[in-house]
Amino acid sequence: MPYQQIITNIYKSIIQEDNAGEAATYIPQLATVNQDAFGVHMSTIGHQEFGIGDRYTKFSIQSISKVLSLCLAYKIWGSEIWKRVGVEPSGSPFNSLVQLESDKGIPRNPFINAGALVICDLLVSEFSNPKEYYLNFIREITNSNNINYNPGIAESEKEVGYRNIAICNFIKSFGNLKNSPDEVLDFYFTMCSLEMTCQELSKTFLFLADDNFRTSTNGRILNMSQAKRINALMQTCGFYDESGEFSFKVGLPGKSGVGGGIIAIFPDKYSIAVWSPKLNKKGNSYRGMRFLEMFTTQTESSIF
Ligand code: GLN
Repeated sequence: MPYQQIITNIYKSIIQEDNAGEAATYIPQLATVNQDAFGVHMSTIGHQEFGIGDRYTKFSIQSISKVLSLCLAYKIWGSEIWKRVGVEPSGSPFNSLVQLESDKGIPRNPFINAGALVICDLLVSEFSNPKEYYLNFIREITNSNNINYNPGIAESEKEVGYRNIAICNFIKSFGNLKNSPDEVLDFYFTMCSLEMTCQELSKTFLFLADDNFRTSTNGRILNMSQAKRINALMQTCGFYDESGEFSFKVGLPGKSGVGGGIIAIFPDKYSIAVWSPKLNKKGNSYRGMRFLEMFTTQTESSIF
């Protein structure tokens, strides 16, 4: 498959089009990023790499980090975690509080903010320094010490994070949070501020595509059944109330973040990261969605 040629052609055609999305201004620091940045990087399980554009520029991965915290929690507690968070698509925006009331504080899935906060609570209970442990976990998967949080972004979100503060307190009122909301939110905002390039992101997520992936010190990250389930959750819940649309148009498990990044996985083949900061109305990268739709169409391959 001439991946590089296909990536280059799609990229060139998309940059001719209007970049119709809008920046995520609710986190003030995210609005300062170059809104026309656009990068793509793909890593195959056969160790080939392809890409184009701003693929070596760091950006805020935001909610994409929720997949990695879920993997860490799943590795530690196994299926116990599903007692505290569900596995159903919510069909609601990522920061919605609506269902929490009728669901008695059990979030629908781990990728909406409510679910990710419960997963953060589990990690805060387990580790004396969850920020450090989580960062080291990712550095080990990515095989790079050059991965860091951005304290400015975390602080910027903390100052205006009223909705997440409300969600966290609401969950606490139902007894589904063991630690103090302040501690959990501090870890959550820091986790979301993680920065990566498209190249780093696609390499980090290769473990969900490659059954033979092993880290040098700890071996496998998840067993095959667990990796299958994480991919299933990305397929059904990775794009909030646009998850069906992403499945329909792209046909791969994936996850987006409000920093404009998207990661998509083709099990047994590759992982591909796209970054373009302007977002569509559902909070997913406008150009990222466009690119991946054209990519799976032109490569004539998806998991379906
Ligand atoms: N940190 C962001 C928030 O909680 C993450 C949201 C996202 O990337 N969709 O609002």
